[in-house]
Amino acid sequence: MIHYDVVILGGGAAGLICAIEAGKRGRRVLVIERSEKIGKKILISGGGRCNFTNLQATPENFLSANPHFCKSALARYTQWDFIAMVERHGIAYHEKELGQLFCDQSAKLIVKMLTDECRAAGVRIETDCVVSSAQRHADNFALQSNRGEMRGTSLVVASGGLSVPKMGATGFGYELARQFAHTIEPPRAGLVPLTFDADDRVRYRDLSGVSLAVQVACRRQSFSHAMLFTHHGISGPAILQISSYWHPGDVLSVNFLPLSDSLEWLKERQLSRPESELKTVLGEFLPKRLAQRLCEIQIDNRPLRQYTPQDLREVCELLQNWRIRPSDTEGYRTAEVTLGGVSTDGLSSTTMESKKIPGLYFIGEVVDVTGHLGGFNFQWAWSSGFAAGQVA
Ligand SMILES: Cc1cc2nc3c(=O)[nH]c(=O)nc-3n(C[C@H](O)[C@H](O)[C@H](O)COP(=O)(O)OP(=O)(O)OC[C@H]3O[C@@H](n4cnc5c(N)ncnc54)[C@H](O)[C@@H]3O)c2cc1C
Repeated sequence: MIHYDVVILGGGAAGLICAIEAGKRGRRVLVIERSEKIGKKILISGGGRCNFTNLQATPENFLSANPHFCKSALARYTQWDFIAMVERHGIAYHEKELGQLFCDQSAKLIVKMLTDECRAAGVRIETDCVVSSAQRHADNFALQSNRGEMRGTSLVVASGGLSVPKMGATGFGYELARQFAHTIEPPRAGLVPLTFDADDRVRYRDLSGVSLAVQVACRRQSFSHAMLFTHHGISGPAILQISSYWHPGDVLSVNFLPLSDSLEWLKERQLSRPESELKTVLGEFLPKRLAQRLCEIQIDNRPLRQYTPQDLREVCELLQNWRIRPSDTEGYRTAEVTLGGVSTDGLSSTTMESKKIPGLYFIGEVVDVTGHLGGFNFQWAWSSGFAAGQVA
């Protein structure tokens, strides 16, 4: 049995950056990964091109019971630091939109970069290695695995959240945290499509595939981006973003016309084309199928000349404040992230070390810090992994 200085549980984004940093300090580092290869989520991220960070990353892009916790780590390892590494490795990238940086070619290049950096830093990586339990001894941690016992002076838990179980996600990190007397903020699926109840599914099922730019709001948060009707409910970037704020029972307010002064153009159409039916006119500004459906179930459809100024205001109010109560989310099967996790109360915000157990660290998605859609979750993995890697 080899005794390592640092044992890192999880060969994902956070674990690998932490390993590189600790290895560069001359620490003997072991990364344990239960899957057959490291960085599986990096490989599937961003449609295979990995949205590896965001130019506009700030602490405001993260959810946590303590919104201040992420500030220190994000300030000490910024998007520019990760971009510098990407550039050093000659990986071509581009900004897609809203500051989101993607590889020009493939996410494989990010995993190769991290693997090369690990090799240069002398990090040992064990794949197909499943850890079943961990104990703390006087001056080290002992881990039992299908490959026997492993020991480390420091133990870094980088085992991720519960999202996408078929990629190897487990609740093991939370179990370890509880074992070492840490509190868990209740985990729930984030960045996830929302589903409708049976009645709304019937009401909107013909709209499956319809997509449009909206502004969606819930719990004093709002996002402007695309929304997509699906067979089960609604999805698209705007909905994924708001899903992280949505709780069962909440109603979403959707503005179908965020960029136009809808009352003005409806009045203008009423003057210029008084015989046109409302659904025809709405079909010029909204996807036709959506305009038609709304006029079948929620808006009275008549020739424009028949609408009073108050009627037109009500039509606009409905289009700018379409209210829908999703029944649920699609759950961890399709969620990009897990909200909640190891409470930041028990962790140092500068090092990610446990305040209760010296030598124990939690980094990445297992911690109660969750980013918006757009490269922020990887940035948290890099920043928190870097922080722990300076001291573990
Ligand atoms: C489909 C999809 C697309 C995404 N796209 C993006 C994107 O483009 N940009 C972005 O910023 N974020 C994206 N995310 C989110 C991002 O992938 C995660 O936030 C990030 O990977 C978290 O890094 P992590 O290292 O904390 O956890 P993970 O990457 O989940 O790594 C944890 C690792 O620990 C291993 N592990 C778990 N339990 C054990 C155990 N008991 N023993 C040994 N190993 C264990 C797992 O196999 C896994 O490899 C996406 C997520 C999904 C699901």
